Amino acid sequence: MDSPPPKPSLRTRLGLALRTKSRSATKLAKAPPSEPFKKVTSSTTTKSTSASTSSALSTSTSSTLSPASPNPKPRPLAHGAIYRPTEDNTNTQTGERRDDTDLLHGLMHRESDSSLDSAYERLKRKREEEVDDRPPGEGDVEKLPADLWIAIADFLSPCDAANLAYASKTLASRLGTGAWQELNRPENLREKIKFLGGMDGKMPGHLLCFLCGIYHVRTQAGKERLKATSVINPLYICGSVGKPGYKPPRTRLTPGHTLPFTFVQLVLRARKYGTSYGIDVNELGRRYKDPYSEWTHQTRYYIRKGHLLLRVTSRSFASPGLPPSGQRHLLYSREDYTPYFSVCAHWRDGELMDVCKCALGHIPKHRETIAQQMKRGPQIQGALRNPNPIVSLCSFCRPMRRCPECPSEYLVELKLAEDKNDPLVKFKQAITVTRWCDLGDGSSPIGPEWAAINGEGETAYDSFANMGRRAISGIFESQSGVTIPGQRMLSLNPKNEKLGEEGHGWY
Ligand SMILES: [Zn+2]
Ligand SMILES: [Zn+2]
Ligand SMILES: [Zn+2]
Repeated sequence: MDSPPPKPSLRTRLGLALRTKSRSATKLAKAPPSEPFKKVTSSTTTKSTSASTSSALSTSTSSTLSPASPNPKPRPLAHGAIYRPTEDNTNTQTGERRDDTDLLHGLMHRESDSSLDSAYERLKRKREEEVDDRPPGEGDVEKLPADLWIAIADFLSPCDAANLAYASKTLASRLGTGAWQELNRPENLREKIKFLGGMDGKMPGHLLCFLCGIYHVRTQAGKERLKATSVINPLYICGSVGKPGYKPPRTRLTPGHTLPFTFVQLVLRARKYGTSYGIDVNELGRRYKDPYSEWTHQTRYYIRKGHLLLRVTSRSFASPGLPPSGQRHLLYSREDYTPYFSVCAHWRDGELMDVCKCALGHIPKHRETIAQQMKRGPQIQGALRNPNPIVSLCSFCRPMRRCPECPSEYLVELKLAEDKNDPLVKFKQAITVTRWCDLGDGSSPIGPEWAAINGEGETAYDSFANMGRRAISGIFESQSGVTIPGQRMLSLNPKNEKLGEEGHGWY
């Protein structure tokens, strides 16, 4: 340590620096030479010592590393002065002056001698890429003459021909505007709707009108709410509404309440493409009371596999032992002689009303104490003292019924419920009719499910063949974890009589 080496090592410099300064530095100097750094860290426990150590270190390093030449600060060039390097680049051995600018330029890549060839290659590659950008087969499409394409389009339906012309620029130029003109003819309205329906995913602010074959602007976009039939609630301005023979498609729910097809479109579009395309399915559900009767209704909707399913539960208190006229009074709306509860278009043909009347016949008489019974006469019925609150229905009215001609299912039940308006008999039996149905995929009101439910289908709909063993009711209730107890599923119309209003059984 005492003999100074030619190049002072770090250890030495540290030693020199610390020896001259504070108390901690003296301690450091005394430390064994093998572990000087460890000692530094252990000794610098207080802030003051560490600060003094670091200051000592910095002063010593600056003095030992650059002893003589303090670097002069470069002065800025005066205005208009020419920059000349201060150092001379002349090689001491050869006398050659090194030009830095030339050196830098030399590093830059220059095009090779074959620059023309490479440019041509690049152009060729670019052209190939451009060809690849086009849809596959475009070249083949181009090869066939326009006459041939028009002949091919003649074999297609107007919708398919329009779709073909819409497929690419080349095809549009080959086929011309004939396909569009064909679609615009009034007799091709259905084809036009089919063609326009394919663009639904690009029209969030519009709704396809099935009367005009036009996408109308949604005037209440996002704020569409289902209202009673008597409330005028247009979702767009349509020129066809009010014209004779034009009726916006809608399905009857209960008296005074319908579901316009536009709402089926809205909820299914929202689920398919996003919220901007319509409204949420839960916005459709309602709970309301019929103003002219005892019936209360609850509607709920559910989307499954792109189809809108609906459940309408209707309930009314019913007195025991109603005569036929009383049963009719309870079940039918006096307005149009349709049931108060929700029904499909085929309700008159089957056994639905008989099932309801049979269920009404099972309602037990009200509870009567012995004293109440004695007022009428000496006979006392023990069963009247404590009637069983759970009424079991018979094999005719208990099973679930499925309409054979449309995707509708019915269940009639008797349930004990509290009547808050009756001070004498608080708990009464109520008849509950639940209808489940599949409203279709919302693509068009001529879709098989929607058309069948409204009795407007052009081809017969066989619900047992279409739905198989899986019941709509089972699918609907399983979403909320409710399992319907195993029910036999019978046909609503086992004899398959189709008399409609002409039949005698419905009233
Ligand atoms: Zn319209
Ligand atoms: Zn029965
Ligand atoms: Zn039906």
